[in-house]
Amino acid sequence: MNASVDIRIFGTAADSIVDGPGLRYAVFVQGCSHRCPGCHNPESQSHCGGTVQSVESLVVQIKENGLVHDVTISGGEPFEQPEACAELARQLKEDGYGIWTYTGFQYEDLLRMSEEIPAIGVLLDNTDVLVDGPFVQAKKSLMLKFRGSSNQRLIDMRKTREQNRVVAWQREEEVITRPAAW
Ligand code: SF4
Repeated sequence: MNASVDIRIFGTAADSIVDGPGLRYAVFVQGCSHRCPGCHNPESQSHCGGTVQSVESLVVQIKENGLVHDVTISGGEPFEQPEACAELARQLKEDGYGIWTYTGFQYEDLLRMSEEIPAIGVLLDNTDVLVDGPFVQAKKSLMLKFRGSSNQRLIDMRKTREQNRVVAWQREEEVITRPAAW
């Protein structure tokens, strides 16, 4: 892959707590064809807006924030910039970052698309949790965590790859043990 590939982004959030668990660096890419009614980020839909920078410089920018070890790639539609987002995820994963990727596509469709566009497979391979599917207003609920509507799935990609079937992500519960002195 070409390390000098450019990425078109809508914006970034260096300290997000809503795009996955814990403190995360969120990258919102620019451009999305899904046009979901009620889209949370309609300004990110145009493929011409936003700003363009190299993936390399974005990785440097992310690493400058020493507090964050997890990154979310959202949008816009990351899989409409597959080479750039795959390279971003690959470089960060190489350095031990956890990666969540949001998409309006369904995982099964992305798998099929990856046969024609290998970068889609690379982005999937470097993603820990994939939040898939379009936003559906009729299925919107404020009770849902890390997703806008109930049709969207939080997919544990490591287990999905291992078991060759879609496995839902589940948050590791913090086990609170009582100190011996109590
Ligand atoms: S996939 Fe996301 S960014 Fe794209 S239109 Fe739907 S809600 Fe908006």
